[in-house]
This record gives sequence, structure tokens and C-alpha cells, in this order.
Amino acid sequence: MAALLMAALLGVAACDGDKPQHTAQPAASSAAPASAAPSPTPSPTPSASPSPKPPASPRPSASTSRPPSTKSPAGGFTVRPPGTGQGPAGSLSRTQGTDIALTFDDGPDPVNTPAILKILRDNGVKATFCMVGFRVRDHPELVRQIYNEGHTLCNHSWQHLTDLAKRDPSYIDWDLKHTNDMIHAAAGPDAPIKYFRAPGGNFTPDLVAKAKSLGMDSIYWDVDPKDWDHKPDSSDAAHISRVIAQVKSHIRQGSIILSHDNGQPDTIVAYRTLIPWLKQYFTLECLPT
Ligand SMILES: [Zn+2]
Repeated sequence: MAALLMAALLGVAACDGDKPQHTAQPAASSAAPASAAPSPTPSPTPSASPSPKPPASPRPSASTSRPPSTKSPAGGFTVRPPGTGQGPAGSLSRTQGTDIALTFDDGPDPVNTPAILKILRDNGVKATFCMVGFRVRDHPELVRQIYNEGHTLCNHSWQHLTDLAKRDPSYIDWDLKHTNDMIHAAAGPDAPIKYFRAPGGNFTPDLVAKAKSLGMDSIYWDVDPKDWDHKPDSSDAAHISRVIAQVKSHIRQGSIILSHDNGQPDTIVAYRTLIPWLKQYFTLECLPT
């Protein structure tokens, strides 16, 4: 009985500060369902590009609501109060309070996901992972690790179709459910999947409603350093510096930050610097489950 209660508690504590560690062990044969109706597109590169950029809205009057403990480092960083938190089509672009949330998209990636997990672990920080279904199928052990280390799981669709909202409703239904099934097969049937992020952030009211009907809130973002946009004429170091500078200059209380673990080694390097910096000024949370 006590064990049962314990398991239940652990299950809910998913995103609670630093005492996570789920016990759920999947019966999951990694043998993925043969299914795979539409074959995965091999390169769903992060496609946040076409999506609208949330207003940067500097709020110069923020000084009055600045928490006393918050420092303002040199370099143009200012503390601003949380905004309305509205993304496209009723999605959420901010956390519910002053905490900030890191979100990593398009994985799991066999190289970069373990690397970002290590940085998060070393810094005692939890994040949210928006995962693509067919990669979940291919790397269930990483999904298990993400979950077991106390991070939040987010459905990022089966194969990252940026026009997902325009597809047939029966396809959308299959896509979202199949992705959730694959996450559950990897992390365990009780692993909560409370969030959905449309590929490219291309939400519509119908898509948001569909996700809601499956128990998922739709999340957008508030800070987008465009870490996927590696200019051909930019060195790795310059790209990393740009990502760091973008986050530092746009971050505010309540921000949800968009980044990518899939195929983005420079992002991992950037977060090695960013996470300790962010911790100085903000409380970092995974989105609550
Ligand atoms: Zn994506």
C-alpha cells in the first residue's frame, strides 16, 4: 500500500523542483509498432522560421515590479513583468508565474539530448522536451531518461509537418495519438503528456482544441533565439554568441524559451553558458504536469 502511495506521489511530483525521479519502468519493448503510416520525413529541421515572432514589448516601467533580489547585469538585460502569455490561437507563450521554462524541441537526438541532459543535471535544472514521434520510436531509451530525470514531456507531432493544421482531421487525430502512444511505450503508460507544441508553432484554434481533447495544453514560446538558423557565413563561435545574446536580451520573468536539442550541438554549448547565467536571475522550471 505504502509502495503504491509512494509511486503515485512520485508520478505526480514529476516536475516538482529537484525531487523528481520517476520510477516508471516501461514494459516497453523497444520494438516499435510496425505501424508507421506516413513514413517519417527524414529531416524535419526545426522550422520555427515561418511562425510569427511574439512581440518583444519592452516595458520600461518594469522597475516598480522588480523583485528585490533580481540583479541587472551589464549588457542591456532588464527585468520585465510577465505579459499576458498568449501565443497564437490561444496557445501559451509564458509560464503561469515568474519562473522561466526551457523547452527543447525536435528530439530525442542520440548525441545532443544526452549532452543537454547532463548540463541540466549538473545544474539541478528541469526542462521540457517537445519530442517528435518517430524519433521517440527510434530512441525510446532517451525518452525514458528524460522522464526518469524529472523533465516534462511534450508532444511535438509524429513527423514535424509544419502544415499539420491543414491536414485531414483523421490524420491529425492519428498523428497526435500515435505520438503519445509512442511516448507512453517508451516512458511508461502513466507518464503524463500535458503539452503539445505544433511544428513551427503553427497553431490554429482547431489544432489547439484537438490537443486539449487529448489532455494537452498547447505551448508556444516567448523567447526564440533561432538556434537552428546557423548562417553559412557565421562561425560556430559567432553563432553560439548570437544565441546567448538573443536569450539574454529577450528573457523576462515568465518566459518560455524555445531551443532545439535535435541536431544542434552549438545549442548545447550555448546552454553550458546560459544555464548558470539564467539561474542567477531566474527560477527555472519544467512546465508543471
Ligand atoms: Zn520543431
